[in-house]
This record gives sequence, structure tokens and C-alpha cells, in this order.
Amino acid sequence: MKIAFIGLGAMGFPMARHLSKQHELIVWNRTREKGECHAREHGTTVAGDLAACAAAEIIITMLPTSREVDDIVNKLIGDLRRGTLWIDATSGDPNVSRQTAVRLATRGVPFVDAPVTGATVGAENATLTIMVGGAPEDFARAQPILQICGKKIIHVGPVGAGHAIKVLTNSIMGATVWITSECLLLAKRFGIDMKTALEVTNAGSGRSNASENLLPMRLLEGKWPLVFKLLHHDKDIRIAASIAHEQHASTPMLALTQHLFTASLNQLGDGADYIEVAKVIARMNDATWE
Ligand code: NDP
Repeated sequence: MKIAFIGLGAMGFPMARHLSKQHELIVWNRTREKGECHAREHGTTVAGDLAACAAAEIIITMLPTSREVDDIVNKLIGDLRRGTLWIDATSGDPNVSRQTAVRLATRGVPFVDAPVTGATVGAENATLTIMVGGAPEDFARAQPILQICGKKIIHVGPVGAGHAIKVLTNSIMGATVWITSECLLLAKRFGIDMKTALEVTNAGSGRSNASENLLPMRLLEGKWPLVFKLLHHDKDIRIAASIAHEQHASTPMLALTQHLFTASLNQLGDGADYIEVAKVIARMNDATWE
């Protein structure tokens, strides 16, 4: 099958690699060199221009936000073929995706939102969990494609439902990273060795993905790799907060998490990794993790 993959970032690059093993892949990236690198390393074809992607049977977007997806839709919509399926793997905004789906439907192009979870390691190893919003028949078409990049592909509801659950689950993660870091800093201040504090946390009811997998490398080894931009995590939590607003829901913890992440982003800048919020917590306490 001919698949166009748009957006070869930290997630898109390895996802497109897996797809290229089973399908004919045409890739497009804003910075063309990344597309050329992908073609060289994985035998894909770099689109001569964005319009060349319109000829594909499946179009996959993996971009920062729904804004960039919308921009690409605007540029391609006039050239799309009836029956092409658009899969948006971006962690996007459910409201925007609903509008996008309506616009694409006028061209006979079905749309599913299919954001992913599992981090860059999941993208590298094709072990992502992918949550899909869309009509059942469109999910049925998307599923075998997504299966190549992921381990668990779940149909969660109509268009927008994938984006909604994605930002909600990322908000749970954000709040967990924050509270775990706060309490570990407090343990350190109390004089408890960090390795011991983590060992106890991970053997008890406070354990989480944050305490087991995300924080040990940073807090024990002082390694702070960039794997998921705080900029993107803040965007996800903001979308979750906007869902709460729309639903007239009372979600004080979510609101607080959003403010803490936005404040951290303002301090650390667009280039920071999301776990670096732990550095902000240290600064708030005139402390360091060393
Ligand atoms: P990156 O920042 O690594 O990559 C972003 C991609 O989008 C790049 O290919 C970039 O092109 C392209 N892009 C940026 N702006 C534009 C634009 N205006 N027009 C066209 N293309 C553009 O992001 P990730 O791969 O980390 O994330 C992608 C999505 O996946 C996000 O929605 C994120 O929230 C989500 N996600 C990320 C995870 C992670 O661990 N990283 C985990 C799960 C989901 P260029 O190369 O030119 O900059």
C-alpha cells in the first residue's frame, strides 16, 4: 500500500521506519534533510513536494499540534483522492480534529485521530499503545497499519475520542511526575539517601512509571535526556484543561497541574524535556538534585 508519512520528528522517524518494511513509503518533513536521511537509511522516498503526498492511499501526520496538522490539511485538501484515509497520530485537540474530519469528509476522505503513548522507546521498538477515534469502518482500515508501529491498538470512540483520552492520560502522568518529585526532594531534605527513597517508593504503594522508569536515571545518575518536549506535554495538559472547561467539570488537580507545567515551561524554555519540571521543584526549594 502507498503510505505518505508527514513529520519525521522524535516519534515519526522510527514509526515511518517500521511502516517502510511492509509498505511503499513516501515521506515529507519540513526540514528536508531529515526526509533525505530517512530515505538513505530506510529506503523510503522523499516527496518532491508536499503535494506529492496527496496521491497516497493512507496519509499519516505526526506533528506537534493540531495547528500544524490543520495547516497541512489546508495545503493538501484540494489534491486529495476520494477514499484516501487520513490518520493523525499527533497528540492533538479533539475539537480541531472533529472540524478537520468534517472538512475532509467533503472530499470523501475519512479521518481518524490515532495519538500514541509509549515514548520514543515505544516508537523505536514498535511497542506503542495507540488510541483511535473514528468510525468503526475507518478504524478497521487503520488498525493493520497502526499494528506495525504498536502493540496495543484501541478503538476508543468517534473522531476526537483518541485525542481526548491521550491528553487526559498524559495529565495523569504529569501530576504523578510532579508529586513524586516533590516527595523525593522532601525525602532528600530529611536526609534520606535518594537511592533508598526510590527503592522504598518502588516497593510500596507510591510507585509509578515516574518512580520506576523516569526519575531514577535523572535523580541518581544526573542524566536528563530530551525525549519528550515539555512544550508538548504542557500543550497536552492545556488541551485536557480545555476539555474540563467545556464539560463544565470541577477538576482542581488538573488545573493546578496545568499551571505548574506552564510555569515550568516559562522558566525552562521550549527546548526542555518534560521531566525537567523536577529541576523547577528543586529551584522552588533552593535545592539541587545532586
Ligand atoms: P518533535 O518535535 O520531535 O517533531 C515534530 C515534527 O513536526 C518534526 O518533524 C517537525 O519538523 C515537524 N514540524 C514542526 N512544526 C512544523 C510545521 N509548522 N509544519 C510542518 N512540520 C512541522 O516531536 P515528537 O515527535 O516528539 O512529537 C510529535 C507528536 O507526538 C506531538 O504531538 C507529541 O505530543 C506526541 N508524542 C510525543 C512523544 C515523545 O515521547 N516524544 C510520546 C507520545 C506522543 P522539523 O524536523 O522541520 O522540525
